[in-house]
Amino acid sequence: MGRSYEVFVAKDYFKFNAAHFQVYDGFRERLHGHNYRVSVRVAGRLGEDGYVVDFGDIKQAAREICQELNERVLVPAGNDTLKIVQADGQLEITCQDGSRFSLPEADCVVLPLAHSSAEELAEYLAGRFVERLAILSERGVETIELVVEEAPGQEARCRLEL
Ligand code: ZN
Repeated sequence: MGRSYEVFVAKDYFKFNAAHFQVYDGFRERLHGHNYRVSVRVAGRLGEDGYVVDFGDIKQAAREICQELNERVLVPAGNDTLKIVQADGQLEITCQDGSRFSLPEADCVVLPLAHSSAEELAEYLAGRFVERLAILSERGVETIELVVEEAPGQEARCRLEL
């Protein structure tokens, strides 16, 4: 008889407040913010200790990863309609429509993404989660699914096979 196990963690403190704008060829949203919420599902085999992964490890990693983005402007460095220059502690962002942002670098987080959509943020955060938690591969975790909720009832998820 086959068995599978997974753990799901969605704590009140898995959240970050951040500003962003969606941008692609011919379109740019105005800068706006979200109260993002994050949850994580981890599937794998049961270890000798009876865990897939200790909830405590998941909670600590998720808390730290949310903190990295909290109260920042999310800047998608891989977007080919944005010109991004770092100079003197400032981030100068020039958009295709000619608008320019100048923001303190410390108020931003530059992400290796083409867009700061909930989908791409979910993929990024899932990757960070795997980087941050070496124990996932040690314990034979098979999949991790990370959900980013941009607003209540509006979420994107990304599943990584490890
Ligand atoms: Zn938005």
